[in-house]
Amino acid sequence: MPHCVILGSMTEHLTRLAPSPTGALHLGNARTFVLNHLLARQQGWRMLLRVEDLDGPRVKPGSAADMLEELAWLGLTWEQPAVYQSQRAHFYRQALEALVAKGLAYPCVCSRKDAQQAGSAPHDDESAAAYPGTCRGRFATADQAAATGRPIAWRVCTDGQTIVVDDQFAGRREFDLGRIGGDFVIFKSDGLAAYQLAVVVDDAQAGVDRIVRGEDLLESAARQIHLRRLLGLGETVRYWHLPLVVGPDGRRLAKRHGDTRLSHYRRLGATPQQVLGLIGFWSGLLPTRQEADLAELLRRFDLQLLPLQPVTFLPADEKFLMGQ
Ligand code: GLU
Repeated sequence: MPHCVILGSMTEHLTRLAPSPTGALHLGNARTFVLNHLLARQQGWRMLLRVEDLDGPRVKPGSAADMLEELAWLGLTWEQPAVYQSQRAHFYRQALEALVAKGLAYPCVCSRKDAQQAGSAPHDDESAAAYPGTCRGRFATADQAAATGRPIAWRVCTDGQTIVVDDQFAGRREFDLGRIGGDFVIFKSDGLAAYQLAVVVDDAQAGVDRIVRGEDLLESAARQIHLRRLLGLGETVRYWHLPLVVGPDGRRLAKRHGDTRLSHYRRLGATPQQVLGLIGFWSGLLPTRQEADLAELLRRFDLQLLPLQPVTFLPADEKFLMGQ
């Protein structure tokens, strides 16, 4: 009789790439997406792609298509079709209603700015001061709030909870929700779901249980775990929050550092192999800046080699991309 091969647990895990089309793909988020892809390949996870295009004014026309094209140019793949948050308003509204029905969310007529900011993922340099709870318990109904004549946003109660994020890369971290912003906005006054709620609803509905993203969203993981608990969505998600690529000033790579978009280097002649080689070098997978393809990075992939500290984008990196 042939040996009976006992396979390990056949549970399928699912991860996602979740670009926000509020600007073009740059080297920093490209690195996170590539590492997400490599980890998924190594672990045998399935991959979805979700376009986070809820952030009305900041979403740039054509930017989603450009980002998908650039991810494909790097060789990344995902299951079709891609999901667009802008087409899922109904599900976010249902989640809001469920929270309101349980007395866990309330209408808020405080400053517009707070509510607007909630549209996008809060990156490290954009954290807001804690909300003092002004509107909590203030209105018995949404109509009463509307009678103030001010736009209504919706906040979720956080009740001074401390949430532990047991991050697979960053380690065990505790967040006191009261200190990191308090009751946060889950629906904005423009009628669109805020980032935190949309992500939780989407991930849960799709069955995403493996989340890999930049460490500036570690704090958001605490809010998302809280929301998942309130919505009864289970505790199955594991997180990997990875260090960022920063400019020479130590801040998250962004426009302020000049044009670090992938499209910029592409226009100057950079190839996917150069970009991937740089990402591999930045991630401890290659000893020097050298060209590589995804297969090569996958062969060498080991998340333990990834430096714990942010990586700084140096003039030598740019030179390499320009073939100098
Ligand atoms: N769309 C978010 C961003 O680009 C990522 C959100 C997430 O991964 O949860 O920052």
